[in-house]
Amino acid sequence: MHGLILSGLEEINYASDLPDPQIVVATDVVVRVDRSGICGSDLHQYHGREPVAANTIPGHEFVGEVVEVGGDVRRFSIGDYVFSPFTTSCGACYFCESGLSARCQHWQFFGYLPPPGVDDGGRGIQGAQAEWVRVPLADTTLLHVPNRDEPEQALLLGDNFTTGFFCADSGDVQPGDVTVIIGCGAVGLSAIRSARYMGSEVIVAVDHVESRRTRASSLGAIAVTPDDALDCVMEQASHGADNVLEAVGMPAAQKLAFQLVRPGGVISTVGVHTASQFEFSPGDAYDRNLTYRAGRCPVRSYLDRILAAVNDGDLSIPTEQIITHNHVPLSDGAAAYRMFSQRKDDCVKVLLSGMSK
Ligand SMILES: [Zn+2]
Ligand SMILES: [Zn+2]
Repeated sequence: MHGLILSGLEEINYASDLPDPQIVVATDVVVRVDRSGICGSDLHQYHGREPVAANTIPGHEFVGEVVEVGGDVRRFSIGDYVFSPFTTSCGACYFCESGLSARCQHWQFFGYLPPPGVDDGGRGIQGAQAEWVRVPLADTTLLHVPNRDEPEQALLLGDNFTTGFFCADSGDVQPGDVTVIIGCGAVGLSAIRSARYMGSEVIVAVDHVESRRTRASSLGAIAVTPDDALDCVMEQASHGADNVLEAVGMPAAQKLAFQLVRPGGVISTVGVHTASQFEFSPGDAYDRNLTYRAGRCPVRSYLDRILAAVNDGDLSIPTEQIITHNHVPLSDGAAAYRMFSQRKDDCVKVLLSGMSK
């Protein structure tokens, strides 16, 4: 099949001789990818902060049609139009049952194969920036696309939007709160919409990039640069922000979050940090009575709640503010990664089109 491979540092190649995914165990399905996303967390691998094997097909966000079904799959048939969280889940273990599907005892992550010498315990599987993708544990991982005419909305529900919602929820956002969102990419913009839904009265959105601040403003946030963030927050609440939602995953963002949060407030981070230590000390946290929440979004666990709110019309996914590049051919994948990583051309979110032979 055709697809992208991450074959070296910042080296994305379009290949047309990749092995076609097959059913490996009876709970698998194979999906023909209609659209796949390039995610901010893909950049950790792209820039070498998280090394991968040289034959890795990246991509953990996708929408597509079921084309092959394992013998034990009950909820899906050939032709079903589906989307997926970025991790698989079994639906039956302690963590799945307690709402933490991201830490399912059987989770696997799309778009990561460990480099030579690294044992990931079989957690990594090939990704979706290709024509087809194999989905393990299909019955308890996949969902039907709510509206076939809106694959973009479903794709964002599989990762970025739900991650933004989770970030706000983990930040204990309450009606009337002053909420800060650091990072106005796809997840940050989703967190703005979610915090508003949960009742934040004032939302301060922080980003270096002017066009992203404009997008944040259009969602009702006061948008500022990192340098202006402290003054802006102090104007809104002299004791600091009730919640700081950090969607960047870099040390500077963590440091800023700590500067902005009030005593007794919450920092909620969904950025994938790769640094080995905190930007503030245990003593700093004590002195601030700080609650710090971090972690991978349990997308599968959150989706029932989010889909209900979306279906009721209470919550909408800001696809037009988030998706800047749609229907990009896989063969332009290398250029798309470059554009996204350099934030060129006002790029927030790229959706690649799968290609059929
Ligand atoms: Zn992602
Ligand atoms: Zn599980």
